[in-house]
Amino acid sequence: MLASRHILPESSSLPPYPHAPKAAPADSTGPLLLPAASIVEQAMAHARRAIALSLAGAAILLLAVLAERWWFDAAQREATQRHAAALRVAGELRLADERLTAAAQLAVLTGQSGWVDRFDRDLPRFEALLAQARALAPGEALERFGLATRSAGEELEDMRLAAFEAVVVGSPEVARSIFEGDRYRAKTALLRQAIDDFAQSTVAAAQRELERVRSRNALIASTLLLAALVLAGGLARRLAGSRARLQQAEARVQALAATDLLTGLPNRAALHDAMAKALAQATRAGGRLAVLLIDLDRFKPINDRYGHGAGDQVLRTVGERLRMLLRQGDTRARYGGDEFVILVDESEDASATRHLAERIADSLRQPIDLGPASVNIGATVGIARFPEDAREADDLLRKADSALYRAKGDARGGICFYDPGLDEQVAERAALEQSIRDGIPRGEFIPYLQPVVELTSDRIVGVEVLARWQHPKRGLLPPSAFIGVAEATGLIGPLTLALLDRACRDTAALPPEWRLSINLAPDQMLDDSLAPQLAAILGEHGVAASRLDLELTETALVRDTGAARKVTAALKAAGFTVTLDDFGTGYSSLAYLAELAFDRIKIDRSFIRTLRDRPESAKVVEAIIGLSRSLGVSTVAEGIEDACDAARLRAMGCPLGQGYHFGRPAPAGELLARLHGRQPVDAT
Ligand code: C2E
Ligand code: CA
Ligand code: CA
Repeated sequence: MLASRHILPESSSLPPYPHAPKAAPADSTGPLLLPAASIVEQAMAHARRAIALSLAGAAILLLAVLAERWWFDAAQREATQRHAAALRVAGELRLADERLTAAAQLAVLTGQSGWVDRFDRDLPRFEALLAQARALAPGEALERFGLATRSAGEELEDMRLAAFEAVVVGSPEVARSIFEGDRYRAKTALLRQAIDDFAQSTVAAAQRELERVRSRNALIASTLLLAALVLAGGLARRLAGSRARLQQAEARVQALAATDLLTGLPNRAALHDAMAKALAQATRAGGRLAVLLIDLDRFKPINDRYGHGAGDQVLRTVGERLRMLLRQGDTRARYGGDEFVILVDESEDASATRHLAERIADSLRQPIDLGPASVNIGATVGIARFPEDAREADDLLRKADSALYRAKGDARGGICFYDPGLDEQVAERAALEQSIRDGIPRGEFIPYLQPVVELTSDRIVGVEVLARWQHPKRGLLPPSAFIGVAEATGLIGPLTLALLDRACRDTAALPPEWRLSINLAPDQMLDDSLAPQLAAILGEHGVAASRLDLELTETALVRDTGAARKVTAALKAAGFTVTLDDFGTGYSSLAYLAELAFDRIKIDRSFIRTLRDRPESAKVVEAIIGLSRSLGVSTVAEGIEDACDAARLRAMGCPLGQGYHFGRPAPAGELLARLHGRQPVDAT
């Protein structure tokens, strides 16, 4: 974990999120996986279709209304005109008829032929009006009218001609008798009746037509209204459907925005929201909260080694384990890559937080089955508390992070509560990390070499490379001052390579048969690129791979046995030998030794130191030597400080030894000087 990777900066720029659901149930991850964009897309398409349909419907309706209006106006205009024309023609016809009758009567009364001429002049006008009237008369009326006017008209014509002739020949009484005769009267009455009848039926027909137009208009108008209502109803339903879909889509998108798709846990955004609520509530009610920031150990190597699919599987498993450990109301979230956050209410029991942290660390230490392999991760937990450590969400998270940083530095799988002194320590450690980072390329890390001797002959057969830091201000620093931080920050890899490079250069003047032992940190064991990188450095200096011995500790092996097996095989395949360091302090499993084909084991110096005082130590050492011999593995006893212990181990059959008795770790130059007897080795 890097000091620069503090959690605060992003939090203020978090996007607003309307609601943060409690952790989505695991089975909800399926449907949630539909990308947010396509959910909204679908709902929008639905809404668009509804709107397009409403527009089309409204346009059709509008056109229908306009067409109907136009048609109604035209029909009404026509009916009205027909009505008016009928009235006019009927009136004019009656007038013309009266004028004709008057002319005829005056001709008879006065006996003047001028009136006959007048009658003849007026007759065409009357006939023209009759023709107009026939054209206007509706179907059935036309027939009646035609029949009546024709027969009456013809007979009247005949009678008038006869009467006029009588007038012309000077016998007006004949004419008068014709006009006053019943037949003439009857025919005149018939014609008048026909004209009236025509006028009435035509006007009635025109009125009926008008009525029909009006009622048809009413029908069409109500049909259109009904259609509009149906359409509007359908559209309203569709629009309501669209709105519902959009709301659903919105809710879905909100849920997506608040959920980590991989684990189904709430994500960082949702956590901030939930924390804000919980803090507000705790502030009101005087409650107490604890924020646990959990960082997985050794997660990156799993990703590197088994691929991201395996990494995802590990994260999902972690999510499930956390879910199982927590109570319903506890908030948990995936905070970032391999970081998780848990918010617990500790109002009732403050000690519950430590227990929970321990249960989490225990649970995450259990192997995770990846199918072909099973991996061991672990977790470090940093804890900050409300209200004593901080009152704001960001501040709490920052303090949990600094506790986490501290816990990482202490020991893997650690749990650390925030305390105010931490910030200073964290800053110090961050500064230390930076100066290690800067010191590596500057060559500040130098190899001190400690001889490894053959106990039977006291002959030096190799040297162990032990790191020292030639610090520009603080002078020469021992590994305890920097190895832990280098391991925790991933700087141990570059540091080891730089150290080996320098050691190859420094030992060029030393006997070429001496072997070089170099220490590897546990996490380096999971790094596939290690073997080729080491081989490349040896190659550059022309040092044979068989001269390099790698010291590993058991911790590295039990964490991920599959990986350990693979890397030891790769290291051995590259021609290096492998030593199990600090043997006896860990699991001390000889089964591993056999299985992983170690070349030698190094008996931890704690046994050698107590060899004289504690009989069990001697027994253990003897047993280790015996078992190793039967497995075909060589043994090195480290920490031999005097000739007595050297003699004892020699007697036990231990082939190799190392310790102040044979020489303290020293720079190559001093070792060389001592070899040539010029100077005793006395440096640490
Ligand atoms: P280690 O691998 O067990 O290294 C042996 C340590 O025992 C060295 O301490 C050495 O100085 C000390 N020692 C040797 N002979 C005697 C003796 O007779 N009596 C006593 N009391 N001590 C003796 P040093 O150099 O301080 O290293 C401490 C640890 O730092 C090493 O333990 C090793 O675990 C780690 N370390 C040193 N260099 C490196 C490195 O390059 N990489 C890694 N990963 N770890 C390193
Ligand atoms: Ca060692
Ligand atoms: Ca050791």
